[in-house]
Amino acid sequence: MKLSQFFLPTLKDDPADAVVSSHKLMIRAGMIRQLTAGVYSSLPFGLIVFRKVENIIREEMNAIGGNEFLLPALSPNDLWAETGRLEDYGDLMFRIKNRELVLCPTHEEVFTSIAKPNLISYKDLPQVWYQIQSKFRNEERPRAGVLRGRQFTMKDAYSFDSSWEALDKSYSDMAQAYRNIFTRCGLNFTVVSAHSGAMGGSDSEEFMVPADAGEDNIVISEDGNYASNIEVAVSFKEKVQRKNSNLNYEELHTPYIKSIEELADFVKTKDKSRLAKSRVYVIPNKDGNEFVLVLLCGDDEVNEMKLQNYFGINIRPAHNEELMEISGADAGSIGPINLKNKKIKIIADLLLEDADELISGANKNDYHFKNIDLKRDVENIEYKDLRSVKAGEESIDRKSKLKITKAIEVGHIFKLGTKYAEALGAKFLDAEGKENPLIMGSYGIGVERTAASFIEQNNDERGIVWKGEIAPFQVILVALISKDEIVKTVSDEFYKEMKSKNIEVLYDDREGMRPGFKFNDADLIGIPVQLIVGDKNLKEGNVEIKIRKSNERFIVRKEDALNKVMELI
Ligand code: ATP
Ligand code: MG
Repeated sequence: MKLSQFFLPTLKDDPADAVVSSHKLMIRAGMIRQLTAGVYSSLPFGLIVFRKVENIIREEMNAIGGNEFLLPALSPNDLWAETGRLEDYGDLMFRIKNRELVLCPTHEEVFTSIAKPNLISYKDLPQVWYQIQSKFRNEERPRAGVLRGRQFTMKDAYSFDSSWEALDKSYSDMAQAYRNIFTRCGLNFTVVSAHSGAMGGSDSEEFMVPADAGEDNIVISEDGNYASNIEVAVSFKEKVQRKNSNLNYEELHTPYIKSIEELADFVKTKDKSRLAKSRVYVIPNKDGNEFVLVLLCGDDEVNEMKLQNYFGINIRPAHNEELMEISGADAGSIGPINLKNKKIKIIADLLLEDADELISGANKNDYHFKNIDLKRDVENIEYKDLRSVKAGEESIDRKSKLKITKAIEVGHIFKLGTKYAEALGAKFLDAEGKENPLIMGSYGIGVERTAASFIEQNNDERGIVWKGEIAPFQVILVALISKDEIVKTVSDEFYKEMKSKNIEVLYDDREGMRPGFKFNDADLIGIPVQLIVGDKNLKEGNVEIKIRKSNERFIVRKEDALNKVMELI
């Protein structure tokens, strides 16, 4: 490709609205442009990269027997009503105003509707179906460029099996294909479990790229044997030990004490584990709201995802007015005993199981109770793992320490089971002639997000640093064209030769441009190897080769240049 003909609108300065590196660099390197919030046009340079990612994905999907489809982005409301997602998707789904149609945020329903009349016998199974296509999600806060867009390209795949063992196989084939894909894309990534209760289990895993721009927090053990999304992570911690002192609980006057820190000072303790903290959540429900009080050790925080997973529904923290209504006190004085609303459900974190000598709010402003014995004093209390893991804690196998890192989710694999097949009545006949729902898996990868994640991990103060298979070009040939025709003649010759050797080369043949400008562009767009032809070196029979990443430079004989380039790519 000749730059004189290529549309590459590079920018010298960072766009004002961009915060994360990949967003800034994708704009500056002329890869994308924003049309409106969360909606981006792929420009030619960006599209080359996205297509490379897609092709890697396509090859790996085909290698495990995947069938490529292309489904419509529009689909009828009725189909989504059948699985309940027309409602459940809420505002995240784009809905067409003048037709009974939605823009698909994902395609389980549509793929299952094709499976239903076609995959009707165990002999038709297994099947792996996929597509690479636009998805539409009305993300509340689109941010960071294409990392979170409202329209983006996803590879979504679905497996259909006749048994759970067969699903395990489809799932592990897919997991391996994902490993291949992200390795080929040059990403440094970690696979984390994403499903509740999974201690190294594999009902659902996410492929995470550690990067500051990430919105997820992942928990990894230092020995590398444990990796989990913080949303479901567990650690090893001793439970709060029972003291069996059998003291009755009694009121403690605690004026102005609102926080656990203040309470710890007041009762002169450093160990906050017996200062039980209460958090009240609202569970929306058809017959009005239900409330749940979550009790944890004073230095712990509720992991809202764990709570949400437990109830299987979106929950929210209670407002102040609601707190007063159910407890009779403000936040800071709430506890499990003497609640105004007796119907509230009480769940304590597992670390507090049957604990005693606890201090907690008395549901009366400025008062706490001490010597609470959960076993004795709180009826119908349940215990669940609801706390958030903290950095530095022991791993569950006690062999290592945990650290927490920000990461970008680039892929997600998930054993769906029979949920969609049952809702849509997609059944097959097994070998005994019995009807069963298809057993499904669902597997996604964000194409633009994968490319942006690569840039997050591979850039420096001068721009992007491409490497490997997703590099848009292998070589940039920079011709420092002057009045002397020789530079152009030699460069044209290099270009022709590299093309004939199938080297992916971008030829900066632009005329009337200062060398400094060309060098900056070359560094910004980050092609791994630069072959620089200028008249000064040519006079000696030489050209210059520069490695973008290390900035290493070689002056080589013109005749040896191509061999050196081939060695470097
Ligand atoms: P997130 O938690 O980041 O919102 P998700 O869990 O909703 O993602 P999935 O439904 O599992 O994502 O989608 C599969 C893949 O599609 C993700 O792993 C991600 O790579 C990509 N993806 C999802 N939402 C977006 C988005 N708004 N913009 C760009 N890529 C996205
Ligand atoms: Mg996800």
